[in-house]
Amino acid sequence: MVLQPWLRTHLYKVLVVLVVVLLLLQYAFNSIFEARQLEPLFAINSSSSAGHRPIRSRERGLLFSAANGSISPSDVFRNATDMSDDTTTTVTGVGGSTSASSTAGQMTNNTTPLCPPIPPKLVGAIRVLKDAPPLAELEKKFPALEPGGHYHPQDCRARHKVAIIVPYRDRESHLAILLLNLHPLLQRQQLDYQIFIVEQAGNGPFNRAMLMNVGFAEAIKLYDFECFIFHDVDLLPEDDRNLYTCPEQPRHMSVAIDVFKYKLPYADIFGGVSAMTRAQFEKVNGFSNMFWGWGGEDDDMSNRIKFHGFHISRYPANIARYKMLTHRKQKANPKRYEFLNTGRKRFKSDGINSLRYERKDLKLFHTYTLLLVELAVPS
Ligand code: UDP
Ligand code: MN
Repeated sequence: MVLQPWLRTHLYKVLVVLVVVLLLLQYAFNSIFEARQLEPLFAINSSSSAGHRPIRSRERGLLFSAANGSISPSDVFRNATDMSDDTTTTVTGVGGSTSASSTAGQMTNNTTPLCPPIPPKLVGAIRVLKDAPPLAELEKKFPALEPGGHYHPQDCRARHKVAIIVPYRDRESHLAILLLNLHPLLQRQQLDYQIFIVEQAGNGPFNRAMLMNVGFAEAIKLYDFECFIFHDVDLLPEDDRNLYTCPEQPRHMSVAIDVFKYKLPYADIFGGVSAMTRAQFEKVNGFSNMFWGWGGEDDDMSNRIKFHGFHISRYPANIARYKMLTHRKQKANPKRYEFLNTGRKRFKSDGINSLRYERKDLKLFHTYTLLLVELAVPS
């Protein structure tokens, strides 16, 4: 075909315009895609989304964008304000039976002022401590705690009632280090919180997800917690602006871990440390009880979250940073993909509504509450 004389002389200009238009379109799509990875308020800050770059998942080959933002402390504080307002509306079914073994909790009365939306004593990046005294000696370091590792600020009314749920078996040195690092951070964040160590009895395959469900079920019997942080024992936060609260959407907190070169391994990841409100957790029916041995249970929760119309929110990677303590690798569950693929069929029937276990012990130690449980294999 013969080109028109006009087009022939201007062909290179037309091509340049086309390339520019394509670049602009790609840029626009990228921004929309990246905005979904973060909490809405972070995403509207263009400087934060500019800091993301796509990487490839090891395990699933998905293309996604890791939060690697360059956000200023004041941006985080602004968001902290907004998020705390969000969570005040998410309380449901408060007031489970307060048994004799429950802890005192927040005794401040209504005339005590609410804590400021931005905790004033935050320091930002913190040095992680890896040398902890034995568990028994740890208590001297935290005189302000009430039995069971429960704390609330004295001079103001906490905005958040948070249960930290740690699945646990046979990692005592990790536990001491976690407590040593977590208590000061949570106290600076002015939370009304309690740390629950949910220990699996026996030596059958470990079931991390089921222990989370047990922690949730037992915690709400003791106190009107509104927010639940599901926390591996071996992850230590590196920045106290990473608030242990629950925003409008479930939050994945361990975004950037040292052993993963501080990059998100894949877009839908929800393992490590995560936060959900009581209402969100109940809506998705908690975790599945079917995942015995390593792997799959966190991805199943990720699927539950999406299935119920939520999305995973995250702080930027320069704040949601963690160090992981070293440990031997658990044996992976060969059935994890099978259960993951058929998970949707069980969201309604497999979860907190089908949880079976025997509570063998409940102890209020000074720095944590211990729940020792025997898990029942689901029928
Ligand atoms: N866990 C534990 N004892 C075990 C296995 C697992 O306490 O024998 C808990 C602990 O909180 C740990 C979490 O389950 O951080 C996840 O297991 P693991 O650290 O083995 O998983 P990975 O880091 O290899 O994904
Ligand atoms: Mn680990």
